[in-house]
Amino acid sequence: MGKQLEITEQLYAYLLDTGFRDDPLLKELREETARMPNGMMQIAPLQGQFMALLAQISGVRKALEIGTFTGYSSLSVARALPAGGRLICLDVSKEFTDVARRYWVKAGIADRIDLRLGPALESLAALKAEAGSFDMAFIDADKNNYPHYYEAVLGLLRPGGLLLIDNVLWGGDVADLTVNDQETTTLRALNAKVKSDTRVEFCLLPIADGLTLIRKK
Ligand code: CA
Repeated sequence: MGKQLEITEQLYAYLLDTGFRDDPLLKELREETARMPNGMMQIAPLQGQFMALLAQISGVRKALEIGTFTGYSSLSVARALPAGGRLICLDVSKEFTDVARRYWVKAGIADRIDLRLGPALESLAALKAEAGSFDMAFIDADKNNYPHYYEAVLGLLRPGGLLLIDNVLWGGDVADLTVNDQETTTLRALNAKVKSDTRVEFCLLPIADGLTLIRKK
């Protein structure tokens, strides 16, 4: 097809083998999470590596994550922060973030992470005093609230700050106009909104389930 390589099983195995540098802690967390219910909610290994690299490239010191689950993305990003760096994690689940916390401790980065349990919209409202101070944010939580998270996060980012939004291709459903459940239509509308939003620059990357990379102007 030419424009976008199809990722076959064989090619994906090659990507994991050669396009990704694994380590024992990431592997242990992936395997523990894969055995849990909802284990498929974990981000892809290549995505974690990409996010860590982005944090390093852009010198991120203060980051925000909405939707921590068992901690793969937070572990990836927090390890990429410099000494004194800080990652605020928002999630509703004690059960899942207890797993995350164990790995933060194992990695020696627990002191960089500030976990806030509760509805993310409330936690975001409580962060308003820190508006304009975040270098990077990641949205990977309940899809129906994505438009609200997007607006709140844009307010929290500094000019030039980065925002990553996960699952924006939603298994391909955003492109299938016969699929019109609430999550799909919300993601479809958000993708269109980001495209026309003059406050940002962006690129929708076909990595994993679709990852939009946004830069606040
Ligand atoms: Ca996700």
